[in-house]
Amino acid sequence: MTNTGTIVADTSTDPTDADVAAYAPTACILCECNCGIEVRLGGDGRTFDRIRGDKAHPASKGYTCEKALRLNHYQNGGERLTSPMRRREDGTYEAIDWDTAVREVAEAFARVRDTYGGESIFFYGGGGQGNHLLGAYAAATFRGFGGRYRSSALAQEKTGEFWVNGEMFGRGVRGDFEHCEVALFVGKNPWQSHGMPHARTTLKEIARDPQRAMIVIDPRRTETAEMADFHLAVRPGTDAWCLAALAATIVQEGLTAGEWVRDHVAGTDEVCAVLRTIDVDAFARVCDLDPQLVRGAARRIAAADSVAVFEDLGVQMGLNSTLCSWLEKLVWVLTGNFGKPGAQFIPTAMVPLVAAGKVYTGKTSPVAGARIISGLVPCNVVSEEILTDHPRRYRAMLVDSGNPAHSLADSNRMREALRALDLLVVIDVAMTETAQEAHYVLPAASQYEKFECTFFNFEFPGNVFHLRRPLLDPLPGTLPEPEIHARIVEAAGLLNPDDMARLRGLAGESRLAFGAAFLEYMGAHPELGAVAPVILYRTLGPTLPHGAAAAAVLWNAAHRCAMTYPDSVRAAGIEGEGLELGEALFDAILSSPSGITFSVDDHEVSWTRLGTDDGRIHLVVAEMMDELTRLSPDGPPHDPSFPLVLSAGERRSFTANTIFRDRTWRKKDEHGALRVAPADAAALGLVDGGRARVTTASGSVEVMVEVAEAMRAGHVSLPNGFGIDGAGVSPNELTSYLHRDEFAGTPLHKHVPARVEAVT
Ligand code: SF4
Repeated sequence: MTNTGTIVADTSTDPTDADVAAYAPTACILCECNCGIEVRLGGDGRTFDRIRGDKAHPASKGYTCEKALRLNHYQNGGERLTSPMRRREDGTYEAIDWDTAVREVAEAFARVRDTYGGESIFFYGGGGQGNHLLGAYAAATFRGFGGRYRSSALAQEKTGEFWVNGEMFGRGVRGDFEHCEVALFVGKNPWQSHGMPHARTTLKEIARDPQRAMIVIDPRRTETAEMADFHLAVRPGTDAWCLAALAATIVQEGLTAGEWVRDHVAGTDEVCAVLRTIDVDAFARVCDLDPQLVRGAARRIAAADSVAVFEDLGVQMGLNSTLCSWLEKLVWVLTGNFGKPGAQFIPTAMVPLVAAGKVYTGKTSPVAGARIISGLVPCNVVSEEILTDHPRRYRAMLVDSGNPAHSLADSNRMREALRALDLLVVIDVAMTETAQEAHYVLPAASQYEKFECTFFNFEFPGNVFHLRRPLLDPLPGTLPEPEIHARIVEAAGLLNPDDMARLRGLAGESRLAFGAAFLEYMGAHPELGAVAPVILYRTLGPTLPHGAAAAAVLWNAAHRCAMTYPDSVRAAGIEGEGLELGEALFDAILSSPSGITFSVDDHEVSWTRLGTDDGRIHLVVAEMMDELTRLSPDGPPHDPSFPLVLSAGERRSFTANTIFRDRTWRKKDEHGALRVAPADAAALGLVDGGRARVTTASGSVEVMVEVAEAMRAGHVSLPNGFGIDGAGVSPNELTSYLHRDEFAGTPLHKHVPARVEAVT
């Protein structure tokens, strides 16, 4: 199967007539695009026999990449859990029934709450790339016991950018690559990591069109860089110098969008004054780039009618990551690229991932004092919050759809922290590395065995929401998360059964009557606000069509969306005023198995969505201004004992997120080889297919070597390994929790100082 970037079909099996069944719509769960797919089950009723793009999906329209076509390895690969597990004194596990598990888990959380306070209960997870519905229900359990502190994978990557967005725009922004003249990718390889609808088709269209241009900042010659007009192959760790040189060129050569900037931007003079002091040639040399290449890229950006920009993990998990987020935005703001086709926009949100307005309110974590951005404690301080005798340390942890022992920095220390907890409860489909440390493990239904959805809804001008229906029943012994959390909340005595029965009766009669009664009930019982999702699930849920009880929380979301963006929702063809519009939107969600376009906008609407107090873009972020002036003309620090930079967790053809536990998913690169530049391989005596030892300050592992032309000398990369299956290295055996961004606390996984030696 080739990476066509168009509609493709898995022909790996040849079903007979007897096992041919109808295709059913669902979505790929491997990246934030959540492309619509159709799945045909085999004769056993559980195997994904055939998978193809769903042409009826309003965003992907039949597009998939090759990764989706082997999702059977997720659904039917690896060891699924089929019973709740309880840890014995000796560390082994015993299967227990659900009633016992739910009762004991509820009692254990209540004990921690009553002894140390609810704030000592920490929550990690809440969904990956395609399962966000569960997050609402998990939050009900967590908050129901008084929990306050939480984190998720977003705090591994995105919180630096969230903070900068909050300061500059008061909202999150995205780029319109479909219509842009120039696409700028910073530490981003959309060919493999996607992040936009029809990524490969869009890249090819930009590359083919002589009127358009692509600029890539990346040390590696990635598939995207191969297609670029300007590839700024920076020395690893120098992205901030490169972005500063781009912004400085724009200012120093008088290329800013003068009138537009005067009308729409605050703080320009202060920022331009700093950018005028930058020696562009010297900064380019720090990056090991020809200054004329940098200047040429800046001039191309300034000359374009529209520029769309995407920064991703290459910088968000690299040195100076928050500074890079700010500098990248200076480049496109100073050239007037917001609120018009092909530029940056502010999308509608069914459920906002980040609350509007300031995303950092001064709150910090109780032990490490780390900034809580967008409500998330930095992942890299979680172990610090536990491994201490501080009276406010976390004592218990609920982990749902997350695997911190595998995915957070410094796995050894993370395991030690998990073992130090009084209580660890893990909800997952498999006995993950984190589950292996838990006191209780509750087996969840897979993403294709329950209703699910994503809140990564970033399409524009038409935005799409897709409530996926289950393709098959939950594996016997497992439960969907909404049911697990409802049972725990009930076992904790947080709900009044008579009240639930009364509300359920009203929901069966009329949703409008239910709505009024529900709001009145919640107003009379504000203490139940934390468990509102479970109340909706138990009352409205059973009355919903298609068995969609789990979608009950979307009723509230649909009303909020319709109230916030009534014109956008009506422009998508959903009719009604006031409450009727919200009801109509909810009905449309429930009755559209391939998803719906729930809002349509024009680009100018972004101006009305800016969350700043004066409706202008705020260029000044004081901490970033200081940080920019501190960039050393000598470049980033260098430790001769670790002369190479390891990028840990590279996205490749057969790596995505870490939900796959089945090594046979990988058609290529089964072992997750260490990619090394030819020059480094020659100097170190490494050969393609040979073995090497990678050593960092935190650990040392043996790996297979792939000599790769795409790598730059001095830079090596590893993909994510599969952990418990033993296929490939788990990169976090090599990372340190102390190696993190100064502002957002995000890990620097793409810049791990390392040395490599040949193993004979
Ligand atoms: S991995 Fe991403 S781009 Fe590829 S099919 Fe899945 S959702 Fe679509």
